Amino acid sequence: MKLPANPNTFANYPLDRSGHRRKDAAWLEAALNRDDAAIHLFHRDRPLLSQAGRRMAPSPMGPGAVQMASPDAPIVFLGVDEVGAPHFAAMLHPDLDPTEPPLESLGVFTDLRSAAMQLSGPDAAVLGCAKAILDWHERHRFCAKCGAGSQPQEGGWKRVCASCAAEHFPRVDPVAIMLPVRDGRCMLGRQARFPAGMYSALAGFIEPGESIEEGCAREVLEEVGLIATAVRYVGAQPWPFPSQLMIGLIAEVEPGDVVLEDEIDAVVWLTKEEARAALSGGVDTDRGRIFAPPPFAIAHHIVQAWLAEP
Ligand SMILES: [Zn+2]
Repeated sequence: MKLPANPNTFANYPLDRSGHRRKDAAWLEAALNRDDAAIHLFHRDRPLLSQAGRRMAPSPMGPGAVQMASPDAPIVFLGVDEVGAPHFAAMLHPDLDPTEPPLESLGVFTDLRSAAMQLSGPDAAVLGCAKAILDWHERHRFCAKCGAGSQPQEGGWKRVCASCAAEHFPRVDPVAIMLPVRDGRCMLGRQARFPAGMYSALAGFIEPGESIEEGCAREVLEEVGLIATAVRYVGAQPWPFPSQLMIGLIAEVEPGDVVLEDEIDAVVWLTKEEARAALSGGVDTDRGRIFAPPPFAIAHHIVQAWLAEP
């Protein structure tokens, strides 16, 4: 792709998804048996990684690894890399123990969220996609229409019900994540579950029947009681925990009293200078010393985008 680089972790998928191959069962079968096939193994929702100093990297296996795959999960075709090698994701057989042979010598099965900062951007994107779609298969083994078992098809990119023939496609759940701004200041909010001192953008799922802007405006009203008058798009982050698409926004809000709902404990209004400090270590406010999320989170890049605005 020739798009500008996206600063968000899990974006910038480096493989050619080769969607036209998904219906070609013979091609997929041959690709899966090629010597250069790269099989990304997962144990439960943890990818197999190798550690090299402080960095981590995927540890893809060759075609023989398919023998260890779970019979209940498909081998998902992830795409083709820049040298033409096909990549797949596979869930290991649940009876295999990662601490015992044959798995123990292969690498470490590591939680993707905690490992993501130690992975390269392209590696995080591939493993994030793989995790999201393997997780979808695990959660959607039965038809949502009639309850019968469904079967994976098209390289793992859809499921079809064996009883009623309904087709089911991988979920992506859109979340509006927004920075309210007014008169040269931005608002960050705090939830009780955040690390001490951390304040972040507001967020909420977009509901059926809403545009992105409407979902954003509703969430701002519900969470802090303010009325949004304009919403602009900053960028998006695939967030495979389990299947969100974080849609980063800046929301211009009207003057008004902040009314907090249960989810938000406190808010701060920051000038650009203060927001810059919050991104790079911390800033003193009337709520004490606070900081904004690290670059792993899209909230960081939404604040950066606001700072870059004239
Ligand atoms: Zn069905």
